[in-house]
Amino acid sequence: MVQFHTVMEKGRCSECGAREIDGHSCHEMFQYPLVWEHNDPKLYDLHFWLVSCYMLQHPSNFTKEGYDLMKTLFIEAYENNWETSYILKKNRELVAKIGKITNPLPSTKRQRNTRKWAMTIEDVFLCGEENAINKINQWKDSVRVNLNGFLQEPY
Ligand SMILES: [Zn+2]
Repeated sequence: MVQFHTVMEKGRCSECGAREIDGHSCHEMFQYPLVWEHNDPKLYDLHFWLVSCYMLQHPSNFTKEGYDLMKTLFIEAYENNWETSYILKKNRELVAKIGKITNPLPSTKRQRNTRKWAMTIEDVFLCGEENAINKINQWKDSVRVNLNGFLQEPY
């Protein structure tokens, strides 16, 4: 499991822009769907999309190579409609490399830039467990659209 670092500034995540809800930081909100998915195999089928959307919105956790690897996997899986089992196989290959793709700088020394995303973990958290499948599917679509629209890469 990758340890993600996020920083809240004035009630917002300094990278994805998610608002703090009920005192939960961006990273704390992310823990909720990770628990929910253990109660529902159909939700667990979306594990890759949940984690990769979150990763793509927090680039400071990765090296440039790691981020590009993740982004390429996300886009290929999305555009080619990969089966869940195939995605998980590819994801395992990626996770095996994760030690090398994590940003070696300590969290306090990392550069964080806010980019404007249509949806963040905040939306998934707010929709609650019953609607999580729909919301994660929407999140995946919106991340795919946003990735095309950015004029600048995060590095
Ligand atoms: Zn965030």
